[in-house]
Amino acid sequence: KIVTRFAPSPTGFLHIGGARTALFNWLYARGRGGQFLLRIEDTDRARSTEAATDAILKGLSWLGLDHDGDVVSQAARADRHAEVARDLLSKGAAYKCFSSQEEIEAFRETARAEGRSTLFVSPWRDADPSTHPEDAPYVIRLKTSLDGETVIRDEVQGDVRIGNDQLDDMILLRSDGSPVYMLAVVVDDHDMGVTHVIRGDDHLNNAARQMGIYTAMGWDVPVYAHIPLIHGPDGKKLSKRHGAVGLEEYQVMGYPAQGMRNYLARLGWSHGDDEVFSDAEALEWFDITGIGKSPARLDFKKLESICGHHIARMEDAALLQEIDAFLDAAGRPALTEGQRVLLSEGMYCLKDRAKTLPELLEKGQFIFAERPIVPDEKAAKALDDVSQGILSELTPQLRNANWSRDNLEVVLNASAEAHGIKFGKLAGPLRAALAGRAVTPSVFDMMLVLGRDETIARLDDAAG
Ligand code: GLU
Repeated sequence: KIVTRFAPSPTGFLHIGGARTALFNWLYARGRGGQFLLRIEDTDRARSTEAATDAILKGLSWLGLDHDGDVVSQAARADRHAEVARDLLSKGAAYKCFSSQEEIEAFRETARAEGRSTLFVSPWRDADPSTHPEDAPYVIRLKTSLDGETVIRDEVQGDVRIGNDQLDDMILLRSDGSPVYMLAVVVDDHDMGVTHVIRGDDHLNNAARQMGIYTAMGWDVPVYAHIPLIHGPDGKKLSKRHGAVGLEEYQVMGYPAQGMRNYLARLGWSHGDDEVFSDAEALEWFDITGIGKSPARLDFKKLESICGHHIARMEDAALLQEIDAFLDAAGRPALTEGQRVLLSEGMYCLKDRAKTLPELLEKGQFIFAERPIVPDEKAAKALDDVSQGILSELTPQLRNANWSRDNLEVVLNASAEAHGIKFGKLAGPLRAALAGRAVTPSVFDMMLVLGRDETIARLDDAAG
């Protein structure tokens, strides 16, 4: 059974890279009938905040990455971490080290002067416990092999070899009895039954140290997949100056969660030439073998194009949900029941060619506009005496017309012809009357969505 996890540190917002890591883990587990767990790595009490945890939970929930079981707090498990350190001590795989900070410094000084490695070698490593000072502060260190190498069998990076002479005897438990992060991660992953660790390759070096703890405890090492970090469009490490780095910013900009899932999945992972895919396809296709070895670059054009495809083909109900979430995140008023009904009716003509949800809503503004429609500057130009005259002739005809697209086309075309103008010339005043804009969905779509009474009322208003 496959168990993955997302283990963010709650020290800020949910970074887009973190969101992608979460997505990869979610896809990998959910696509294989496994479990996806969530652990908040809140051991750094000074930097961890409640607000950051909330932001992470909100972000994951918006992205639709549901997790199994309770959210695990790493800090709450400190006793268990310490227990494992003591376990290692009694196994002889760890030892008490009484060296003071000054002694360690002095060791490094001498090593530097003599041109040796400055990695600390504790004199207590092989000391007989009977020689231990009483009541003196100590740390517990892991006894790492002095020779040989540690091989991380990474599913993305391949075999990564690190000479054990590069690894010092790391501290497991500090002198105040608190466990170090590296120990906490291993104990938690083991206790949570994590089988696959998919995370950023900034943690690759940690893996060597973490493996030492697994081995010492006789635990199975999980499968590792360290994924390259996301870069900006210029190939440099992603930072604020490239644009949005927090997931929430993307939500506020109005990218639908479904499009975001698709785009983030493609950020560093590929499946042939497939760019636009459904969740079901992503779940079926996602595999570690499709993860690239080099950093993916953020590409806003591609994000927009993928989101546009999803908006165009999403079910109306799903789209409405995305819109509700967007309005809420953007701090805009929620849809009224009436607007929701009209929007649903009009959705078919708004979905096409909208790359974001605010773009879709902008196209649908004729639905939300209230009479009297005040045309903007551009639209106002289309309303002159002649066109107002045509509009006023039109309303009595529309009162009895069959309200179907075909028939409305017949009526409007006949009116244009009667005045010796092209239909395009009539469309301008109609757009101005119905939406107050020069650029709108098709006149027929607007008339069908607004219905007879509202259409005629708006035309009457504009006819003056
Ligand atoms: N808490 C770490 C981070 O936010 C992740 C550690 C891990 O995935 O093992 O970068």
